[in-house]
Amino acid sequence: MKLTVLGAGTFVAEINRTASGYLLEIEDKKIIFDFGRGTIRNLLELGHNLENLDKIFISHVHADHLLELINFIIHLVINPDKKRKYGLDISDKKYQVYGPEGLKNSINSILDAVSFNKQNLEEIISIKEIAPKQILTFDNYTIVPFQAMHNKGLNALGYRVKKSEKIFFYSGDTTYCESIIEGAKDADLAIIEACLKSSENHMNGIEAGLVATKANVKLLMLTHIARTYLSDVEEDLRKTYGGKYLIAEDKLCVKF
Ligand SMILES: [Zn+2]
Ligand SMILES: [Zn+2]
Repeated sequence: MKLTVLGAGTFVAEINRTASGYLLEIEDKKIIFDFGRGTIRNLLELGHNLENLDKIFISHVHADHLLELINFIIHLVINPDKKRKYGLDISDKKYQVYGPEGLKNSINSILDAVSFNKQNLEEIISIKEIAPKQILTFDNYTIVPFQAMHNKGLNALGYRVKKSEKIFFYSGDTTYCESIIEGAKDADLAIIEACLKSSENHMNGIEAGLVATKANVKLLMLTHIARTYLSDVEEDLRKTYGGKYLIAEDKLCVKF
């Protein structure tokens, strides 16, 4: 598997860190986890064709994880070069978008708010709402969503991907909880959020490190770190985690 960070940042606008997004490549399949502001540009700069993405998984419907999906959908519908460039007809490929309960309503509401004609939408994408622990089996890999505990009343998921003996995990946004430790268990690469030093809705480096230690993660990537916390997060992480780690940056690529 190969993981590329499309967006390591947060809501806050920064020149070198866009909002949340990750590209996981499993052989020739391209899977997106979260689609925040700026991720389309990073995909294009890295030389990916938007038309060649396979599946999209959204962790939760906060704007910094979802809004670029709206731009992507509109791009798919109106891109006049589609047929000429890629030999694709709109009906040739249906994109599959997965996420927690409430995702469909959020996407439809935003499309309505921007006066988008949804007439052909179902021919282009299918939106599937999935529940924690629902095992999704594709070609030669599986994806299992795990419950994340983010803002109260908001459905949020982390995702565990398994291909042969290799395991990838992405936490989405979450506070410290047992289900995230379970989802990250023995991951070869786990991307875990450590947004703020102190927050009701996010983890800090100490908590993210504890997740990684308890889950026996082989390589940890800390992500979604607020700009104001970047200088302190590693010191916090080392209080609870002694293993290998990376701090996420846009376009950082890891093969495992
Ligand atoms: Zn969030
Ligand atoms: Zn977020």
